[in-house]
Amino acid sequence: MVKTLRNVDIEIDKNEVCRYLGYRKDRAPRPSISSLIDEEMDNAYELIQPSCFYQLIDIEQVHQSRVILEGGLTITSEVLGQVLSHCHQVAIFLATIGRGPENRVAQLMAEGQILRATVLDAVGSETAEKTTDYLQERVSELAAADDAEITLRYSPGYCDWDITQQRVIFEAMNSAPVGVSLTEECLMVPRKSVSGLIGIGRFDNGWAKSSPCRFCNRANCPSRR
Ligand code: SF4
Repeated sequence: MVKTLRNVDIEIDKNEVCRYLGYRKDRAPRPSISSLIDEEMDNAYELIQPSCFYQLIDIEQVHQSRVILEGGLTITSEVLGQVLSHCHQVAIFLATIGRGPENRVAQLMAEGQILRATVLDAVGSETAEKTTDYLQERVSELAAADDAEITLRYSPGYCDWDITQQRVIFEAMNSAPVGVSLTEECLMVPRKSVSGLIGIGRFDNGWAKSSPCRFCNRANCPSRR
């Protein structure tokens, strides 16, 4: 059954907003931009509706790059096949901040307020990430109550997990009123939404949080950790 967390209480981190805007840690925005960021962070709190949806599903079988879940949903990814081979369950999730911020960004763009729109867009990205962090913490607590741990979280479109597998996530949502739709290209609307999965299992020390890159042969990956 899909569980819902609505009106999630999150705190927007200004440093992270700056990072989305391209500022390095050692370079602060000039005062006028800093004030604009503060204003749009305040405005964002009025616009967002952070909500999370997740379903815990048992893993039935892992065969190399195919992970078959209870009910027949299938995850296809070499990297996830390795990660989930140590798990007994997954949390399939969707987190969103609603349409408010991006409607406002579109309006600002139409009015020619490009800088303000760019700042609000960055605030939206940070807010969606924080909403997903909140969900991940709840899943971690659920796992801990069962003497288990969670893996890192993974989203379709990253590593070797094809973006078209968004359809698996949406199928797992089982027509719950998530307020997020999928385009034919498998992009989410509203854009400030995050989907994916988190593995749950009982691991040897430190295994769960270690990098998936050790399973991956992709050459020259810029994200290799
Ligand atoms: S090397 Fe790149 S593609 Fe492979 S697991 Fe690491 S981040 Fe993902």
